[in-house]
Amino acid sequence: MVKQAIQIFARVKPNKKSVSAYSVDEDGHSLEFGVPKDLADGFINNKKDKYRFRFQKIFDQACKQEDVFEMIAKPVADRVLSGYNGTIFAYGQTGSGKTFTITGGAERYSDRGIIPRTLSYLYQYFSQDKSMVYTTHISYLEIYNEMGFDLLDPRQEASTLEDLPKVTILEDTEQNIHLKNLSLLQSDNEEEALNLLFLGDTNRMIAETPMNQASTRSHCIFTIHLCSREPGSATVRRSKLHLVDLAGSERVGKTGVGGQQLTEAKYINLSLHYLEQVIIALSEKNRSHIPYRNSMMTSVLRDSLGGNCMTTMIATVSVDTRNLDESISTCRFAQRVAQIKNEALLNEELDPTLLITRLKKEVQTLKDELAMITGEQRSDVLTPHEIQRLQEQVKVFLDDADPEVKFELGPDMRKNHYCFSLLKAKICERPSSYHSNGDSAVPPGSTVTDHMQSSSPTELKKLKDMLTQRDNEISILVSMLKKEKKRAQEALAQLSQWSPASSTATLPEDLSIRRSAEELPPLQKSLYRKQDPEFSIGRQEAFDIFKRDHGDQLIIDENKVLLKQRYSEAKALGEKVNNVRSKVNELKTQLELRRRQIAVQGVTTGSPVSEQADPVEERLLAQIEEEKNNYKSTFGRLKDLKTEIEHLQLLLEKAKIKLHKDFQDWWKHEAKKAQVAQPDPQHPVLEDTSTVPKSTTTVSSNPVTRSLTSSSLSDSSIPLTGDRETDEDILAFIRARQSLLNRAGALK
Ligand code: ADP
Ligand code: MG
Repeated sequence: MVKQAIQIFARVKPNKKSVSAYSVDEDGHSLEFGVPKDLADGFINNKKDKYRFRFQKIFDQACKQEDVFEMIAKPVADRVLSGYNGTIFAYGQTGSGKTFTITGGAERYSDRGIIPRTLSYLYQYFSQDKSMVYTTHISYLEIYNEMGFDLLDPRQEASTLEDLPKVTILEDTEQNIHLKNLSLLQSDNEEEALNLLFLGDTNRMIAETPMNQASTRSHCIFTIHLCSREPGSATVRRSKLHLVDLAGSERVGKTGVGGQQLTEAKYINLSLHYLEQVIIALSEKNRSHIPYRNSMMTSVLRDSLGGNCMTTMIATVSVDTRNLDESISTCRFAQRVAQIKNEALLNEELDPTLLITRLKKEVQTLKDELAMITGEQRSDVLTPHEIQRLQEQVKVFLDDADPEVKFELGPDMRKNHYCFSLLKAKICERPSSYHSNGDSAVPPGSTVTDHMQSSSPTELKKLKDMLTQRDNEISILVSMLKKEKKRAQEALAQLSQWSPASSTATLPEDLSIRRSAEELPPLQKSLYRKQDPEFSIGRQEAFDIFKRDHGDQLIIDENKVLLKQRYSEAKALGEKVNNVRSKVNELKTQLELRRRQIAVQGVTTGSPVSEQADPVEERLLAQIEEEKNNYKSTFGRLKDLKTEIEHLQLLLEKAKIKLHKDFQDWWKHEAKKAQVAQPDPQHPVLEDTSTVPKSTTTVSSNPVTRSLTSSSLSDSSIPLTGDRETDEDILAFIRARQSLLNRAGALK
């Protein structure tokens, strides 16, 4: 068991302007905020203008993603590899860099956050450590408004959060938490795991609307479930790593209140309020009740807070003057968190199935040994012949009037047990006579065992005892297995009772495991299908203009160029690898030739082969060595490049989807705006319908609306076709074009 307080780190988000309101001490452990006097009066404690907080380490503005990974995530990953649970969570106000820290930025490969870097690190470790067999599963949960959503469901056409499968919490009799409906997908390599991350992130992005503001109000928990065992061993280690991007920690009532009001200001997000309550309860001594159950997030993260887990918090802060109060709140919260002590246990267990197999094997070996020593093969039950003989023996024994008579059975426990049962039956049959002179029925100092012991070698006895013990162990384990099975069945039955419609109940956990390779359609497919497959010409025209003006297009173009560059680099490297390989082969042929020549020379001249090294051979060997090294390093670079290319492809894909989504939102917005501005009662109705691929388009009975200003187009100038969808597109196009023209006009 490892007892450890939750580690706290702070990360300062880069600020455009230089700010003097904060400082970090030289060794990076202490962060100080100086609140300007004029501000202090307004919304922070006016009695104090300096706030100092201690952290394990503070990552100032210039720090890199790589440093954060090395210092924070790598040690946690190492502990997870050795079988302990780990959690890293980012806490801070919206925009302070939580997502950037946990997942990474969407623009550059070097902006990869903790999740992709940790995955990379873990899979690299697996490939190097041949002494263990590792399996990984991934889950990705979003909690919004006390409801859980499965971000990894590949079957969903999610365009809102509600389209994603709902995840609910179940607690078993031992108070273990189970998450029903949360996909747990196996990922065998880094690429598969990254695909899952991007699938989840894309679902997360698509499901966000201005209404739900999911990215600021929801919590996202990416979990890596690790299982490892030595080949052939019955001991398995299971550990979990939660990487958590919490909702924005901003509070209400910050402005216009003075002094201590700050600490009382309420969280906008209710579940963060419950998180704070749990933290307060844990940091107070002698509190027996910890209110984990108040919210879904604290229930899911129960082990990470005051339980079996090594936990790390990253407080993300913005030092912009406007954000000082929130940053101070964040640091205060961190100080409280640092008081919590967790007790992490090594999650090692015996796999009962494997153990039974092993014990059975051992029993068989012991039986064989026994048969060799006694010279007779034994089955589990006595033969009818043996039974008959024993009955006779018992009869003779009982009928013999001699009190000293000996009962010789030999070292066979089956026979011993059988004879005792016969004796017992006899005693029960004639209770009065045996009970009255019971002492003489079984003579004191049980001659049977005495005899057996004296007549059998001690080794036999040892073997026999072991056999009995192993038999007992097996029967205990078998009944354990049966019980487990029954419990699982009961739980499933319970589940189906609670939600008869759900056939994908995920309790117990193992049952829900799906192999991603088999059931997950290729990521690209699942990403693409979320886009509108075909635009009308008008909409395409609007989209092209929209795209040109969209900020992200620049990033897309840059990444495209970069990707192209990387492709050609990879191609060049690939060619180089091939060249080096053929060069090595060529050198090897030369070397062989040279050796043969020397051998032939030795034979023809009759002189013995020189002891001295042949300089030509030496040179060839050195060259081969050099080329091999060259091959290794080029190949390594090619491998790194491959990872980068895959990452860039996914970034690009995500950016494209986002562009589409922004366009759809903008299109929808423009249409709405126009509807409000120009209601026209004379025409049949076309309600604005989103181009986000939803299954239904509704037609309402409101008056038709035009997005056009009446001056630009008269009613009669729009020939409508009568086909709803087409008309709707025509109108939306004209509206959009008008609005673009207006924008262009305004710019001139
Ligand atoms: P949060 O998740 O806390 O709301 P984000 O991670 O989305 O905040 O960050 C807000 C913006 O600031 C994003 O555009 C992000 O790329 C940028 N950002 C945050 N932290 C950094 C950083 N350390 N370096 C560069 N950009 C950052
Ligand atoms: Mg975020």
